[in-house]
Amino acid sequence: MSRGSTPDRMACVVGLGGNVGDPAAAIRHAFLALDELPGTRLVSASTLYRTAAWGVTAQADFVNAAALLETSLSAEALLAGLLEIERAFGRDRDAVDAERWGPRTLDLDLLLYGAERIDCPGLTVPHPLLHRRAFALVPLLEVAPGADIPGIGPAADALAAIASDDIRALG
Ligand code: ADP
Ligand code: MG
Repeated sequence: MSRGSTPDRMACVVGLGGNVGDPAAAIRHAFLALDELPGTRLVSASTLYRTAAWGVTAQADFVNAAALLETSLSAEALLAGLLEIERAFGRDRDAVDAERWGPRTLDLDLLLYGAERIDCPGLTVPHPLLHRRAFALVPLLEVAPGADIPGIGPAADALAAIASDDIRALG
């Protein structure tokens, strides 16, 4: 882990979520794992939020959070690190019953990578559903209050346009 800020370090936001086992514990461990990625520092970790499942709704509530990072990794290398941490926490993408938006131990999404727009196979930044997901926007705004979603506009405006009343801080 390195200290200080230099122009080649990028501020980025990672969204964390899970709804299997003890997702709050998984997310707290994941904050530490993010801080240990090469060239990467955890600048700030959001509150943990309990949120209703999105997409496939007949499943347990999720716990969601966000991490503000400063990193010298490329977006591709950072995503590879996120997928590695997901795997370490037991999410098996190759399982036969793996369902999109289904139950998961830990999901890490690269929500924002500076002000960059990236559209590669396997990596889209900003995350294409960020502006439609209150469970991502609420914690993101906690760690990055003035955040702008490139190509969309202020994150606060995106949140104001959707329902967010089922997002509660974990007590
Ligand atoms: P979601 O995060 O949309 O609920 P998944 O986590 O199942 O869905 O999707 C993971 C896949 O999405 C990864 O294999 C990854 O390659 C791809 N992906 C594309 N853009 C991103 C991003 N910004 N953050 C995380 N994964 C991404
Ligand atoms: Mg994901």
